Amino acid sequence: MSTDCIFCKIVAGEIPGDIVYQNEHVTAFRDINPIAPTHVLIIPNEHVESTETLREPDIAAALMLAPREVAAVEGLGESGYRLISNTGPDGRQEVMHLHIHLIGGRRMKYPIG
Ligand code: 5GP
Ligand code: ZN
Repeated sequence: MSTDCIFCKIVAGEIPGDIVYQNEHVTAFRDINPIAPTHVLIIPNEHVESTETLREPDIAAALMLAPREVAAVEGLGESGYRLISNTGPDGRQEVMHLHIHLIGGRRMKYPIG
């Protein structure tokens, strides 16, 4: 755990998070500032800064398997959803704990970026 990381504190239960799914490797909780009817952040329980520092295959696998679990909880399995992960300054990453945004509940706009 990184002591000054807000997402580590949510995993540790030190600050409140609206958790929708959790397993051994990942935690999913609602974004505090949602941009769609469903906006959930999926993060590794262990502090990993971004995809640039991710090395552990079990965590990588867990991150990509979790969206389907979150979608099932949120009832989005059939209607679909979008996954976004921002990395570094050009990616506009603001919280330096790796996270995947899962957004859904409406038709997404395209193109992105
Ligand atoms: P980024 O730009 O790093 O990909 O997005 C960070 C996301 O984290 C933003 O969508 C922001 O609303 C969300 N966020 C920032 N602080 C908190 C917090 O304390 N709790 C929750 N649930 N979400 C947060
Ligand atoms: Zn962290």
